[in-house]
Amino acid sequence: MTHTNSLRIDVRENVELAPYTTFGVHAVARFFAEPRTTEELTAVLRDERFLGLPRLILGGGSNILFTRDFDGIVIRPRMDELELIDENDEYRFVRIGAGADWTRTVAETLDRGWNGLENLSLIPGTVGGAAVQNIGAYGLEIAERIVEVECLNPETMQFVTLGVDDCDYGYRTSTFKHEPNNALIVLSVTLSLPKRFEPIFSYKELAHYFGDQTPTQASEVAQAVIALRRKKLPDPAELGSAGSFFKNPVVSRIKVRHLLEDEPRLVTYQLGGGRAKLAAGWLIDAVGMKGKRRGDAGVYERQALVLVNHGQASGAEIKALADEVAAAVKRRFGVELEPEPVII
Ligand SMILES: Cc1cc2nc3c(=O)[nH]c(=O)nc-3n(C[C@H](O)[C@H](O)[C@H](O)COP(=O)(O)OP(=O)(O)OC[C@H]3O[C@@H](n4cnc5c(N)ncnc54)[C@H](O)[C@@H]3O)c2cc1C
Repeated sequence: MTHTNSLRIDVRENVELAPYTTFGVHAVARFFAEPRTTEELTAVLRDERFLGLPRLILGGGSNILFTRDFDGIVIRPRMDELELIDENDEYRFVRIGAGADWTRTVAETLDRGWNGLENLSLIPGTVGGAAVQNIGAYGLEIAERIVEVECLNPETMQFVTLGVDDCDYGYRTSTFKHEPNNALIVLSVTLSLPKRFEPIFSYKELAHYFGDQTPTQASEVAQAVIALRRKKLPDPAELGSAGSFFKNPVVSRIKVRHLLEDEPRLVTYQLGGGRAKLAAGWLIDAVGMKGKRRGDAGVYERQALVLVNHGQASGAEIKALADEVAAAVKRRFGVELEPEPVII
């Protein structure tokens, strides 16, 4: 049976992906589509030319590393509407299209006088990517603001709305990263933004920034977060990266006790349930990898957790450096480092 789509959107062939990722590594997508509406997205998914091909949803490309070409269709949703859909005495409920730029979304909410996202200022990527990766910074994770995530199941072409409790949010993870929900395409995310401003500034660097002052406006927190981030993270426009390349490993407190016997300076954060988080950046620094380069692939000299592309590195070279870093940490501390970005 032939399906004729009344709506046919422009699908490009053999598209260079470097400009669409913050690592800026060379890789080619066989097909590439940028639907601006849900109707355009469904038209692409129904298009017989692409049925059965591998499919990849790309947001801002800020947490993805291509180590090879993509022999299928890359779909980059561009729906970016921001709508105040409801409010009560305590919260504003805001729905944002998955393709909206996250940094711009935070700035726009603050411009409208809406608190709640200031701690997540200046994180690259899209709203959809943020909900998939459960972005977090300076004491806040997006999961704490999510009400629901609207998705399209591309297999059944049905719309599904997942409440926050169905999203299985954890440290940089969600149900959207695991089967079967990794097939879902996020269309929009609804956030609840508290009307009362309660600054979150207990995170060590932020507390230090404010000293004995308490921020009275969300914009002050946003400015502080932006200033701190600019100091320690590379600007993707100048130096390619995906932010933190490794997650901070979570280990048992018994393991921490053993490690501390050898390394009293080890940086750890206590978690519940007899577990603790180790600072991956500290571990990488301790094995002497901070600032190391293998060709154009490098460990960022200001923050060892970040791998960078000094120019012409390939995704495979960055991945090889990541493996070298992880092996060195494993050898010295017996701790596994897990990459945070999606590796293709
Ligand atoms: C300089 C720098 C600093 C960073 N700092 C932080 C930080 O402080 N905290 C933090 O948590 N992260 C940080 N990151 C990582 C990154 O910004 C986030 O993970 C971001 O949310 C990724 O969003 P994206 O749209 O770029 O997703 P992409 O990288 O494009 O995709 C990531 C994953 O999400 C999936 N995806 C994207 N959009 C959709 C959609 N609409 N539907 C279904 N799946 C989708 C993709 O298929 C892929 O699996 C940083 C990155 C950089 C480069």
